Parts: sequence; structure tokens; C-alpha cells
Amino acid sequence: MNAPLQHPPPTRTTCPYCGVGCGVLARPDGAGGAAISGDPEHPANFGRLCSKGSALGETLGLERRLLHPMLRAADGELRQASWDTAIARVAEGFAATLTKHGPDSVAFYLSGQLLTEDYYVANKLMKGFLGSANVDTNSRLCMASSVAGHRRAFGSDTVPGSYEDLDEADLIILVGSNAAWCHPVLYQRIVANRRARGAQIVVIDPRRTASAEDADLFLPIAPGMDTALFSGLLVHLADTLALDYVYIERHTTGLGDALARAREIAPDLEATAAATGLDAADVRRFFDLFRANARVVTCYSQGVNQSAQGTDKVNAIVNCHLATGRIGKIGMGPLSLTGQPNAMGGREVGGLANQLAAHMDFSPLDVDRVARFWDAPNIARREGLKAVRMFEAIERGQIKALWVMATNPAVSLPRAASVRRALGKLDLFVVSENVSDNDTVNAGAHVLLPAAAWGEKDGTVTNSERRISRQRPFLPLPGTARPDWWIVTQVARRLGLTDAFPYERPAEIFREHAALSAFENYGTRDFDIGAVAEIDDQAFDALAPMQWPARRHEPPSARMFARGGYFTNDGKARLVAVEKPAPRAATSRQFRFRLNTGRVRDQWHTMTRTGLSPRLAEHLPEPFVEVHPRDAAHAQLVDGGFARVSTAHGACVLKVVLSVGQQRGSLFVPIHWSDATASSARVCDLVAPACDPYSGQPEAKATPAAIAPVTFQYAGFALGLAAGDLPGDTWWAHVTVPNGAGFLLASDAALERWRGHAAAAFAGAEIAEYSDEGVYRVAAFRGGRLAGCVFIGPQTAPPHWDAVKPLFAAQALGPDERRAVLSGKSPDGRSDNGPQVCACFGVRLGAIREAVDAGARTAEDIGVALRAGTNCGSCLPELRRILEQARAALPVVAK
Ligand code: SF4
Repeated sequence: MNAPLQHPPPTRTTCPYCGVGCGVLARPDGAGGAAISGDPEHPANFGRLCSKGSALGETLGLERRLLHPMLRAADGELRQASWDTAIARVAEGFAATLTKHGPDSVAFYLSGQLLTEDYYVANKLMKGFLGSANVDTNSRLCMASSVAGHRRAFGSDTVPGSYEDLDEADLIILVGSNAAWCHPVLYQRIVANRRARGAQIVVIDPRRTASAEDADLFLPIAPGMDTALFSGLLVHLADTLALDYVYIERHTTGLGDALARAREIAPDLEATAAATGLDAADVRRFFDLFRANARVVTCYSQGVNQSAQGTDKVNAIVNCHLATGRIGKIGMGPLSLTGQPNAMGGREVGGLANQLAAHMDFSPLDVDRVARFWDAPNIARREGLKAVRMFEAIERGQIKALWVMATNPAVSLPRAASVRRALGKLDLFVVSENVSDNDTVNAGAHVLLPAAAWGEKDGTVTNSERRISRQRPFLPLPGTARPDWWIVTQVARRLGLTDAFPYERPAEIFREHAALSAFENYGTRDFDIGAVAEIDDQAFDALAPMQWPARRHEPPSARMFARGGYFTNDGKARLVAVEKPAPRAATSRQFRFRLNTGRVRDQWHTMTRTGLSPRLAEHLPEPFVEVHPRDAAHAQLVDGGFARVSTAHGACVLKVVLSVGQQRGSLFVPIHWSDATASSARVCDLVAPACDPYSGQPEAKATPAAIAPVTFQYAGFALGLAAGDLPGDTWWAHVTVPNGAGFLLASDAALERWRGHAAAAFAGAEIAEYSDEGVYRVAAFRGGRLAGCVFIGPQTAPPHWDAVKPLFAAQALGPDERRAVLSGKSPDGRSDNGPQVCACFGVRLGAIREAVDAGARTAEDIGVALRAGTNCGSCLPELRRILEQARAALPVVAK
């Protein structure tokens, strides 16, 4: 009798995308992939995953991986090198630059994708031993304003509450947060509270996003006016005697000045409505809701942070919670939703240029304390340059040696094209990366270091509720890739710093990090994980998710500040007198619009990982600009056409999407596309470098912009080609499809040119062609498979690829299928079932429409019929909107 099959237990790890920090169970399939599911025991998600997390198993391929160190040779080519040679080049390059130009000439640019252990070692090397604080991170673009706001109010960068508060609140306010798409698992938790307990949801956003679909009250605030709204709320609470004077007296200072300033900004309800562009009745309802519900959680994200007044926005929100004592208690408090998986971990180790380490800054006492702990007499003694200023210093030639780890600044920083040019001026440009090809790598890196990716990494991350979780490896390191902490450690040792960098495993780094957090910490610093400073390697491997603070001999604490205890000199929180809100740059006749940037549901950052999943590519495959229909009519733009969006800093050509959810006068463009994935869609090229004066965070949501129509004669798609195979002036967007790469195209190139390019690209293949007036289709077959194709037609009626993609994915085609290729129809005669709505089950708009026609009246009905919306729930807002459109007898469209 055969023995029963033994399946090894899954590896418990943590999702590498957003700051929700969901627990993941990964079961390797033995062929380089893994089956992925949510960890039912992780307190961030209790088994749920969103569409991005669910598709992690599709992103583990090695096709684009950087597998070996590469050095740029004298002829300009990158050549494979040994680790020994690469480490020597980096160490000698930094040493030579320091000797010649001093500590201000070197910099590290890190990432919220790094693990805490990676971050700790990099920060220690630069600030402790190279003597410069020029260490900043892409978290500067994400939540630096929340950090600055917390430090002004609390004296520390503390998130006071927990996710549990979202289950217990009676009122949940989302400010500048499309949580339905950007923090989907938390959003579903909020919606579950609404269903189970009747919690009310208020969404405050200039755009009517998917998050507004479940809102009891949606406030389409004028861009940048959040400070005015929360100033008006503070005034209203004071005037209606709704302040908690006991809490204020015992635990805060600054109410008088904060309230006086709030009265200047928004003296009453009508003034608040006028300043924010909202209906007075809606403002009253919001104020009444806040006043009536003690249990209020206010969640804020990039719409608040990415602003030249982001810190004031945070403090205007926090002021209302402090003044009502709604903080640190069950179901109440301000809650910053961090964008990245380890933005919080980076803050813990001091990964920002204005932090030193372990939530200590550059005060003489802190510098002395950390210098003694690290035995680092050469420690940096003043703040370094924050991200935008760091890259300006590179542009000026002041910074000459830069090491970028796990991020893509040539895409994501404001004025990205200038950043890319500046990188070319560096004497030494080192990039630690997973992928061999992205815009930063292609900006002329001298040294490429292959870093471990998710699934291979081993260490910790911290989510938005201060919860530290393990990322554990379940795949072998490919090629000669190594973890980031190991790479930095080797460079430090080559610089003669072996004693300070003795690490052989991440547990050693974690213990040191934890010990530093507790070093001379007498309850005087918020970040303290001394309770785990002496755990052994086995306990580190088994570490369960834990929240900080976790002080020695004290129970962990899920909430902070209910009874004061702020980390200021007098232990009291500060209410802050915020400035009157005003956008940094004015619009003009030339640039009449405001350009807002953000994320889409199924992609992450610059798509180096999510872009590998065909399933995730289905939702919104092309870079687009969202425009209000009346603005579009005025500018002669049509839905599905193209537009050139420009600012004083650059321009992109994008697909036009009309949306009544978009405010008049503003444009929305997603951040995800780069030169590696589209011909003209790197939107951060267009973003101005205006920064918040306290946080240094750039204003990514309000750059003055213009929009104009662009016409192409032809549009279509290609499969099985590379971007270099297309006519040079083609507009293209790269899309991962099953079994390869696809391109969505638009072009003025004559059909004969397309024929010539296809002939060259498919040389040696068996060719089938169809050509008619304004239409050209060519298919190439090799070994019984469809090796590639190009379909071009009029831009007003472009060919769709839904029926052709499965044929491209098939290992072998039968005669009927082969005949069907050029028809653009599947062998059963169906050509197109519309865009995908549910990524988990691949449910398309056409199927949903059929279910509605057959009687589905609720999202739950659709779930029963098609399973759509029954897994991660990320598409539920879209299902409800489609049902809404059907009820109103509007044309049903997917967004
Ligand atoms: S909400 Fe989605 S992207 Fe964020 S951590 Fe959870 S699974 Fe990952």
C-alpha cells in the first residue's frame, strides 16, 4: 500500500506590497513557483488577500531577474563580475569619493521594500561610519508628512491605534485615501464593520474613487483644502462645546493658538464650505457625525501626505482627535495608512535623512548615545539631504557617489527625466536590484548588484499598526543573488569595518536593532522592542507578528496615549497652529488643470513585480488620464482617444478615460508606467519638485498642467514582439499576457511599414496575412504554435485581442484555431467579453452584464452566479457601480 502523500507545511510570510502587511502562506510547487493564500492567523488580514497579494504566485519567475553582479566596462557595456570584484569596486569607489570630496559627497537612496535588517545595516554604515546622513528613502514620497505631523503633535513618530479600532469604530473617515484600491484588505474590514455594526463611512477626496462607493457621505473636497475642512471642524467642535477639556488640560498644550488659527482659516460652517468647495449641508452632516460619535477613526494616506502642506494637513486632523480626547482608546484615533510594506520599519531604523536611528534624531544627546552604542566616533552629527534635495545635489555635482537599493527613482521622483540625467553625472552609481532592466538601471549604473527578492528574503517588516512580521524565504536564491544586508555587510568589511559589521544572519541584526531601541530608553522613546533583544535564532525564525512598543518586563500595548504620556519634554501633546492652505503653484492660462497622480487597483509601484502577472494586467492595461466629461468636451477629447498631458517639466501621451468622478479642472494619471513599460507614460516627469517645508515630501497631486488631444490613424495590438520591433513613432504599452508579452498600440505608420516590421520580426516563421482597406493582420506560426501577431485597424474601431490571446497561449493549434487567428474571433465565434473586473476569478464585464440581465440585483447575487467579488473583495466597489449603472439604465462600463 502506498504511503499517504506528505505535504510540507506552508511557509508563513508577509505580503511585499502595501502597508497593510497581510500574512501570507506560501507553498512552493517545486518548479520555482508557489501556491499563495492568506494566513488565517495573521492579525492584519485573518486570511484575506487582495488581488495583488493573491497573484503573488504569478510573479516569481526569473525572466527579468538580475542574477549576477554586473560592472560597466570602459566601453560602456555591462559585464558579469564576481562578488569579490563588485564589492571591491563599490567599497573603493565610496572610499575614494570620501577621501577626495568629504562625507557630503556620498549618499544612499533606500526603499520601503527593504526589510528592516537591510535598512538597519545600510543606515548604520552611512550614518555611523561613512559620517554622512545622506540616507533617504522612497518613503519620503509616501508618508514623510505623517512622520513630521506625528513628531510635531506627539513628540515621536507614533501611530497611536491599531487595525482593531476599525472593527470597533462607529465612524470611519477616509481622507485622501482610496483604500478600496490601495489598502483593500483594510477597506474590506471597514466595510465589514459597516455591515455588522452599522459604522458610518465618510470619504473625503477630490476624486470620486472606488472607496466612495460604500460611503455614507462622500465629500468631493477642492484639491488641497483638507486643512480648511479640519480647521472648520475644530472650530465647530469648540463652538458646540464638544471638546474634552479634561483631556486637553491634562495631556495637551497649544489649543488656544491652534483654535485661533483655525478660526482665521475657517471661522464657521459657511466659510468652511466656501473654502473647501463643498455643499454647506454636507459639511454640516460631517461635523455632526464627528461630534455625535465618540468612536471615530480618521485614516489618511497619500492624498494628505503628498502635498506641499502635507504636515499641516496631518496636524489639522490630529488636532481634532487631541481636542476631543479621541485617541488611544478602543475604536478611535488618527491612523496613517502607510503605502509600502516596510515604510514603518524604515522609520524605526532611521532610514530618513532627518532621523538617526531607532526613533532618535540628531540632538547631541541622541548622537552621543548612538555613537556609543555603535562604537562609531565618525557618526554623522547633522541631518542629511531629503530625497528631492538629494537628487538636486546630484544634479549640481555635489553628491558624486550614490547607492540605490530596491527602488526606481528615475521613474518615481518629481522631474523624473532630470533625475535620470543627473544620475549620468555620478562618478559612482551603484544599484542593488532584483531586475536587470528598469529606468534606473538604464540610467547608466556603473555597478549592478543582484539582490534577493520576495520569497528569498529573510527578515522583518512593520505594517501601519506598528506590527512587526516575518518575511521568510521559501525559494532558493537564484544565480548569485544575495540579500541586501549581506551585500552592505560585505562592503562595510571591505572598508575595514568588520568589527562593527559582524553579521552572518538576519537574526543577529534584529537583536542589535532591538537592543538599540532599548538602549538608555527609560520610557523616554516610543520605539522600544527590548523584549526581543535577546531572542535566539530559533525564536527569531518562529517570531509571531508582534506590535511595538514591546518593552522588557512590560506587556505589549495595542494603543497609546489614552492617558497622555506623549514623548515631549512635558509629556503633553501639541495642538499645532496650521497655516492657511494654498497650493504651492498657481494654475495659468497655459496650465489650467491640476495634475493628480495615484495608483490603480491591481498594480504596484513601477510594476516590476505585479507587471509579471497576466491576471493583474487585465484590469487597467494601458496608461491613461482621467478627465471630467465637460473638460474633455471643451478640450475636444474623446473617451478611448489619446491626449498629451504636459506641465512645465515634461509631457506624456495617454489614453483618455472620461469620468464624472473626476473634478472639473483636475486630471488623474496613474504612477505605474515607466519607459520600460510604455512609450510615453512616466508621469513623474511632469510632477513639480515643490516640497512640504517640514517633511520634504513632494506635492505629487497638484502640478499645474495642460491637456490636448492627440490623434493616431491606427490602433491595435501585437503579441510575441519586443518594443524594438515596432515602428519608431508608435505609441505602445507593454502588457504581460499568458505565455509572453503583448503590446497595445497606436500609430500613424502606414500599413506597409507595419508589414515590413512584422516581416523582419517574424523572419523564418510561417506567415499568414490579411489586409483590407485600413486593416492589416499578420500571424506568425512556429512549430504548430502561434509565435506572434500584429493586428492594426482604424483608431476609431481598433481590433481587440481577447480572442487571440488564448490562441497565443496555446501550446499547439488545431486547424480551426489556426484559421480563427486572423479572424480575431475565438473558435466558438465569440470575439470579446469586455475588460476584466474580478482579477481573482477572471470575470469580465460581459459576463457580469449577462448576470445582471439574468436577474442579479446585488454584488452578492453576482458572486453566487460568477464568484466575482467572493475572494479578496477588491472588485466589490466596481460591481456595485456596475449594478448602479444598470439600475439607472446607463450604459454599463468598466473602469
Ligand atoms: S492589502 Fe493586498 S497588497 Fe496590501 S498587504 Fe494585503 S494582500 Fe498585500
